[in-house]
Amino acid sequence: MRLLSVVARRVWAMGTVTGKAEEPSAPGNAAGRAAGRPASLSPSRAADFMQCPLLYRFRVIDRLPEKPSAAATRGTVVHAVLERLFDAPAVERTPARARSLVPGEWQRLLAARPELAELFAGEDGGQDAERLAAWLSDAERLVERWFTLEDPTRLEPAERELFVETELASGLTLRGYIDRVDVAPTGDVRIVDYKTGKAPAPQYASEALFQMRFYALVLWRLRGTVPRRLQLVYLGSGDVLTYDPDEADLLGVERKLHALWEAIRLATDSGDWRPRRTKLCGWCDHREQCPEFGGTPPRKRGR
Ligand code: SF4
Repeated sequence: MRLLSVVARRVWAMGTVTGKAEEPSAPGNAAGRAAGRPASLSPSRAADFMQCPLLYRFRVIDRLPEKPSAAATRGTVVHAVLERLFDAPAVERTPARARSLVPGEWQRLLAARPELAELFAGEDGGQDAERLAAWLSDAERLVERWFTLEDPTRLEPAERELFVETELASGLTLRGYIDRVDVAPTGDVRIVDYKTGKAPAPQYASEALFQMRFYALVLWRLRGTVPRRLQLVYLGSGDVLTYDPDEADLLGVERKLHALWEAIRLATDSGDWRPRRTKLCGWCDHREQCPEFGGTPPRKRGR
């Protein structure tokens, strides 16, 4: 790691909620599909496998449904607001304008995914207006905090919510969505990702940066230039984590992804998807089907 700067005002986070667009978990290329195994990786799915192979199986192979979460949904709304704010002229990118976008982005999301209404269902089946109002206020606070970390009046992103995809020589496809790409007059590229959770403790910073190094690798392969800077903006704690990658570092990421892909291939071929019990199991929707919690995984697709 050449540069790691952490502005840490709070140190502990059990996990971070991105709320960003979910990367397609990918049927992958023809060779992978023919072999019955995924042939693509996104940062989220790679992180799933590293966290718990059985969780990866539940999400990618079995495609088990998961309950919507208020935190992740709030993250999606906040991401949409931060993206949309750049539609306005620079001088109009104010905290008040950003806050005013929150209810509309929530309504837009709700129209696309009506099942999210259940997050704010009251006991009588109607809407719990108080809970919804508190949740919207939280989203507004997160949006407002962004202005203490970055100044959108001085930014003109080259890309927002950029879908990237590249196939490595091995046949492994990497894909994902990048929240924001900035390009300096010098041509230097900065990849920015927003997190609505809190910054991790310094000892977990490299795990948090894995996703960003993944994106840097993809952009390097697509454009031929290593991005100059990776920047994680933590709205939950008001922290910014930056990292400047180099070629050697990204080649290491590529090796790691190939090793991960091979491990996924082995698990797919053998049907041996080991559960890995950690503190993060508390957030897992699949405990009822998990042997670690007395459950039995479905038999059909993951074997
Ligand atoms: S409960 Fe824990 S061990 Fe079981 S599938 Fe979920 S993350 Fe893995």
